[in-house]
Amino acid sequence: MSDCIFCKIVDKEIPSKQFMKMIKLWLFMNLNPQAPTHVLVIPKVHFESFNEMTEEHADVMGHMSLKLKEIAKTLGIDESGYRVVCNCGEDGGQEVKHLHYHLLGGRNLKWPPG
Ligand code: AMP
Ligand code: ZN
Repeated sequence: MSDCIFCKIVDKEIPSKQFMKMIKLWLFMNLNPQAPTHVLVIPKVHFESFNEMTEEHADVMGHMSLKLKEIAKTLGIDESGYRVVCNCGEDGGQEVKHLHYHLLGGRNLKWPPG
């Protein structure tokens, strides 16, 4: 999608600090980390959020979820624990309208979120 910053990151029009390469996913460091480890995991295919997800995205969503433990292990937070966040829409606090998982760890994360 032409005006989507995450699509531009996938197309390398905008640089990102990629830490791991995967065929269907793009994984990069968050510019504004909220924890010692805070990365973004996105499907290369564009869709906005859970609200726009259809059957054709089931494959990549399953893949993205299954890969999280491997990504967490690479980042060294699999045993200490981590949080996966997916913001949806205005009240969910979604700023970038390309579905993404935040993977946070490296400190004891509090609950409930603000
Ligand atoms: P959300 O509020 O769930 O839409 O999260 C968007 C996230 O993307 C925020 O945590 C931003 O810090 C992050 N972000 C925005 N632009 C970039 C970028 N160019 N590189 C890395 N992270 C970014
Ligand atoms: Zn996009």
